[in-house]
Order: sequence, then structure tokens, then C-alpha cells
Amino acid sequence: MPTDERLYSYCAELMGSPILLKLYSHDEALASRIFQLIKRYEDLLTVNRAQSQVMSINHAAGQHPVTVSLPVYALIKCAKAASMAQDSAFNLAIGPLVKLWRIGFQGHRVPSAAEIAERLPLTRPQDVILDDEACSVFLAQAGMEIDLGAIAKGYIADRVRDSLRQQGVSDALINLGGNVHTLGNWSVGLKKPFAPGDALIGSIEVASQSVVTSGVYERYFEQDGKRWHHILDPRSGYPLDNELDSVTIISANSLDGDIWTTLIYGLGVVKGCAALRHHEDIEAIFVTKNRDVILSSQRNFRFSLLDDSYRLTGCTA
Ligand code: FAD
Ligand code: MG
Repeated sequence: MPTDERLYSYCAELMGSPILLKLYSHDEALASRIFQLIKRYEDLLTVNRAQSQVMSINHAAGQHPVTVSLPVYALIKCAKAASMAQDSAFNLAIGPLVKLWRIGFQGHRVPSAAEIAERLPLTRPQDVILDDEACSVFLAQAGMEIDLGAIAKGYIADRVRDSLRQQGVSDALINLGGNVHTLGNWSVGLKKPFAPGDALIGSIEVASQSVVTSGVYERYFEQDGKRWHHILDPRSGYPLDNELDSVTIISANSLDGDIWTTLIYGLGVVKGCAALRHHEDIEAIFVTKNRDVILSSQRNFRFSLLDDSYRLTGCTA
């Protein structure tokens, strides 16, 4: 790994998130091409503006199918498959609930139980109807909304990795606000939940791997003495409530990391550890509310604990 003196950082604000690109050569033009690439995908996939390809699908809910570009179709198809898996906490049709809570946006609030009950029937992933030949997506009920907020950054991080490789870059890091992807050897910090500034629990050494973290400390608000965070349980319509403060997934592809952070949030530590035993290429770092750092395995990364108020353990049983 080159020394840090030769490191160049480029920053942007896209997808409502700080974006950071690190290179080992000074190349403004390359950084600008990468930020443009991210922006093009944001424009296709966002649900935070009135217009995008995903919004065209949402606007036509209950009316007609909408033909979209191949990358958007492929991502929605992948998101639907992850949503249909048994006991999956991941749900691409969660949009009506995300828009109801507005967590991380102006106007967030705890909705009434009646409002949540009203929206839950509009979040059935099986009502996202795909047509491979027409490359079209149809939301069967009016009021349905696709939301790719949990995985679009992972998909885009993989495209950034591909683009950097195609341009002959062998050492680079991209951070899309929680989705880190690497080319070459890097050390990635594991954030300390709810701590101010850049406090870290530890560091993760990886080589050309994705490191995706989802945490309850990222987007939340407090009301009635409770913290309400943005990862929703598609079964209840309320934020997932378990022992986890954050989950980090180390994997070759950031899209897998993104899907698995949400799946693991739904499963919790014990079931999450059990599920990962069948997926050797996916590894997790669980950070619990009572300050355990649990590593599912350490095949493709090395972890160093930097904060001794946390205990480091492995998956047991
Ligand atoms: P993750 O844990 O990966 O995902 C949580 C997000 O996924 C939630 O915010 C919600 O959108 C969705 N979600 C919640 N529960 C579930 C579930 N059970 N299954 C599936 N999905 C779920 N933020 C802004 O403030 N302004 C913007 O203009 C803006 N534009 C964006 C454009 C794009 C293309 C993307 C990808 C994101 C944008 N964001 C924006 C951020 C976005 O609103 C989410 O906060 C962000 O994507 C969450 O990612 P995460 O990695 O922090 O959390
Ligand atoms: Mg995610």
C-alpha cells in the first residue's frame, strides 16, 4: 500500500450523503468522471425527487407498467428476489412506510397505528410485477412505492469500482456515506455508534473488498423518550428493534453487503451468525448495544479493536 503522503481525497455531496474518493495520484479529471457517474445513477434511482426512472414506476402504480433501462430493471429484479426470500427483513416495496415516517428528512414523526396499518398492505413485494422481455415494472396497487434507499448505494459503489478498474486504477477507495468499496489494500474505520466526531471502535483491514455499515445511529429522531431509526421492519411497519447498534458486511460486492446488512438487522446476532455459516463469501461485524463486537469470521479482513470499552468475540454455537 502506498504511504499516506501520496493520498489525494476528493469530496462531493450526492444522494443526501457525503461522498469521498481517495486516490494515490492527483487526478481531478478522474474524480470528476466518478462523481458524474454517481450522479447519473442517482438521477435514475432516486425517490427523493419528483422525477427519476424509479419515480416513473411509482407514479404509475395501479395504472400501467413502465419500461426502464436495463440497469434499473436488473437492480429492481435483484431487490425483489431479496425481498421474497423467506423471513426477509428486506423489502423493496417499503416506500409508503418510508414516506410516512420521513426519518432523516424534514417532517419526521411517529405515525399513528392506524396510519401504519393502512400502508402495510401497500408494501407487498409480490405486487411488484416484472416483465423481463419488456424490461418493465408494474406496481399492482395504487399507492405502492419502490424504495431502493437500502441498496442503491451498494449498486453504485460496484459500478464505481468497475469504472476505476476499467480506467486502470489499482488503488482507490470510494465512500458513499456508509458504503465503502476498495481497490487494493485499505484500512477502514468502524464508527463508534452515537459518539461525536470520528470516534472509532476499531479498524478493518481489507484488500479489494466492500465494507458496508448500517447503523441505528445514522438517521433517527427522538420522541416520547424513544429513538426511532430508519431501518423499518416490513412486518410491523415500525423500526426494527433488537440488540444491534450497527452491522458491517465485508464482501466482494457492495450490493451483497447492502442486502445483507438489512437481512442481518432483521435476524439479530444469533440467527444472523447461523445464516452466515452458509455464505462463506459474506462476513459480518455485529456491534451490540451492550458493547460486544462480534465477528462472524475473518477470512477476507483483519479487525483491530481500538476502544477497550468494547469486548471482541466471535460467533458462538
Ligand atoms: P441502509 O440501512 O442501507 O438503508 C436504510 C434505508 O432503506 C431507509 O432510509 C429506507 O430508505 C430504506 N428502508 C428502510 N427499511 C427498509 C427495509 N426493511 N427494506 C428495504 N429498505 C428499507 N437522502 C437525503 O437526505 N436527501 C436526498 O436527496 C437523498 N437522495 C438519495 C438518492 C439515492 C439514489 C439514494 C440511494 C439515497 C438518497 N438519500 C438521500 C439517502 C436515503 O434517503 C437513505 O437515507 C440512504 O440511502 C440510507 O442508506 P444507509 O446506507 O444509510 O442505510
Ligand atoms: Mg444498505
